[in-house]
Amino acid sequence: MSEEIYKQAKKNLIHGCEWVPGTGDFIKVRTELCTGCSACIRACFGNCFQLKDGKARIKTYETCCECGACWFVCPENAIDFSWPKGGTGIVMEHG
Ligand code: SF4
Ligand code: SF4
Repeated sequence: MSEEIYKQAKKNLIHGCEWVPGTGDFIKVRTELCTGCSACIRACFGNCFQLKDGKARIKTYETCCECGACWFVCPENAIDFSWPKGGTGIVMEHG
């Protein structure tokens, strides 16, 4: 992470973490594989998904803690998960 981005994040830290925009679409649902089972929605404590037309869709990335639970629980392997670009996404004060 660049020094400038780190300083910006640290200034606004809330409960030890901060969202830094610019991630790109680092989680994608392959709708052709999604059965709409909602396992990812139940697993996501960031409330990042919604079910639309019987398929899971990303609602927001801004509350994603990058835990990977959605990817892990999907029985259809319909979720592509990759880490956000460097210096973006969730920034933790510790860890
Ligand atoms: S867990 Fe997988 S199959 Fe189930 S709704 Fe989510 S993306 Fe679709
Ligand atoms: S990585 Fe975790 S917080 Fe982010 S969308 Fe998946 S389950 Fe939700």
